Amino acid sequence: SGGSLIAYAEANTNNSNRGHVAHADAITSNSIAHADANTSKKKKVVVLGTGWAGMSFLKNLNNSTYDVKVVSPRNFFVFTPLLPSVTCGKVEARSIVEPIRNIIRKKNINVSYCEAECIKIDPASKKIYCRAARATLNTNSKQGEEFEVDYDYLIIAVGAQVNTFNTPGVEGNCHFLKEIEDAQKIRKNVIESFEKASLPNLSEEERKKILHFVVVGGGPTGVEFSGELRDFVNEDVLKLYPTVQHLVKITVIEATDHILNMFDKRITKFAESKFLRDDIDVKLGSMVTKITENEISTKAKGSDKTTSTPYGMVLWSTGIGQRPLIKDFMKQIGQGNRRALATDEWLRVEGCDNVYALGDCATINQRKVVEDIAEIFKRADKDNSGTLTVKKFTDIMDDVIARYPQVKLYMKSKRVRNFVDILTEAKGNAAKETIELSIEEFKTALSVVDSKMKNLPATAQVANQQGAYLAKCFNRMEECEKNPEGPPRFRGTGRHRFHPFRYRHLGQFAPLGGEKTAAQLPGDWVSIGHSSQWLWYSIYASKLADKSIGGVGLDTAFYLWEGRQWNLSQS
Ligand code: FAD
Repeated sequence: SGGSLIAYAEANTNNSNRGHVAHADAITSNSIAHADANTSKKKKVVVLGTGWAGMSFLKNLNNSTYDVKVVSPRNFFVFTPLLPSVTCGKVEARSIVEPIRNIIRKKNINVSYCEAECIKIDPASKKIYCRAARATLNTNSKQGEEFEVDYDYLIIAVGAQVNTFNTPGVEGNCHFLKEIEDAQKIRKNVIESFEKASLPNLSEEERKKILHFVVVGGGPTGVEFSGELRDFVNEDVLKLYPTVQHLVKITVIEATDHILNMFDKRITKFAESKFLRDDIDVKLGSMVTKITENEISTKAKGSDKTTSTPYGMVLWSTGIGQRPLIKDFMKQIGQGNRRALATDEWLRVEGCDNVYALGDCATINQRKVVEDIAEIFKRADKDNSGTLTVKKFTDIMDDVIARYPQVKLYMKSKRVRNFVDILTEAKGNAAKETIELSIEEFKTALSVVDSKMKNLPATAQVANQQGAYLAKCFNRMEECEKNPEGPPRFRGTGRHRFHPFRYRHLGQFAPLGGEKTAAQLPGDWVSIGHSSQWLWYSIYASKLADKSIGGVGLDTAFYLWEGRQWNLSQS
């Protein structure tokens, strides 16, 4: 636009004013050059993804020295915890999304958005390769155009995709519940099933088949969808399709011994008995081996016998796997055998400069913790004897804990043995304080700790906290480079400009239908029933009304507060 301003000034000025033109020209080009220099001075931050991690980063970033570009094929943010409620019409899809451009508009830093997907990352030349999400008008191709984007810092927050475990027939015959379109498709399919089953000239068997809803995977998403469906059948179907209501069957197929197995046992037990009461058939220890257009085949644990059952609709919800972009990138940087993109505790991708990864596509590499603690051992072993007493070790643990909060969590955990017990196990029952351990023995003990330290779960809670943490680091990057944090002996290593990422678990919810929710809160506090449902409503309502994500879905927020039901009949 600067260029066209000059052209405009030239065209509108006569010869007698030549001097002015030259002057105007000089001023305009000067200011353009100045603006360019300003922009080029800004560090280019590219954010991949508009989900929980990417948007939390953007929301919390407030340092105007960056030039931020967001690249994502989805031009809106989705409040995923309420996706299951969209499937049966309790919540409207539009209530749980927020356009990215709305979010950007509210930022007072330089942010732009590109509706495209990243198809390749080249950390050597600090470039990403992208493909526009839609074809542009001047090409015949159905695919969008490709282009490159340079970065100084790359934030990878592309999330994950559904994992089918290569089970034959899953793609093509099953529904997934990951995106807003998935929820809408499910909603449409649920209604279509009831319409189809209500047609004349069908046998009872045919109607039963159409109304057999199968959910594969007894995790939170599968369980929540089953609860939503049961509510819909009990409330709306009863009124709208009374002649077929008794033919509905809901089956949950779970490969392990329990549904919701990441929750406290009390919740698992409650959910299983509630489903039994609600006439939801839970098949535990059952693996799906194949799905055809009409039947789902399963094998019970330890048995060779395959059972095939007719179904009307299947929701596949068995966990997540990495996207092709991440798989390729992991191979490229020597992480091909990992489950997710490995980062250190500062969320920096191992082996790449200025590349960060967070959310479902990443995992913090715990192995590194062991190596680092061994390094601390070496430093504490000042006399180079190659041994340390446990007493000395516990003295230096404060430093370790300051750097690695999960060690503290581990040490505090009731479920695992005392850390010092592990360390001294090899030495029998000698007095713990005076036992001397070699570096190798330390390492072995630390490996035990390491193997017991769990990866962070793939949840919005983790992604959101990681995004906020990284934004805070970026906000203070320059200041912290000058004045690194941490104990003096760790400064100057380049690692301790900031404290490592610390996850604060705030608890988890599992809505089970029938206005009942199970809540597991910090401190092993478990609550099940209507009160937890209200706690769940209140928290999500406040999140939805949160201005920082654009005041999304106030209608949903009010719905939640008032506890009213918006059912399919009403929408
Ligand atoms: P996402 O939120 O999935 O965002 C990824 C973004 O990257 C998207 O915008 C996507 O379009 C974009 N993208 C994809 N490919 C590319 C590419 N090649 N280039 C650029 N951009 C790309 N968690 C909880 O804590 N509590 C809950 O109650 C809860 N309920 C859930 C219910 C459902 C139905 C689902 C599916 C998930 C739920 N989760 C919940 C999990 C939570 O949604 C995820 O852990 C969270 O979304 C992860 O955030 P993310 O930013 O890593 O990925």
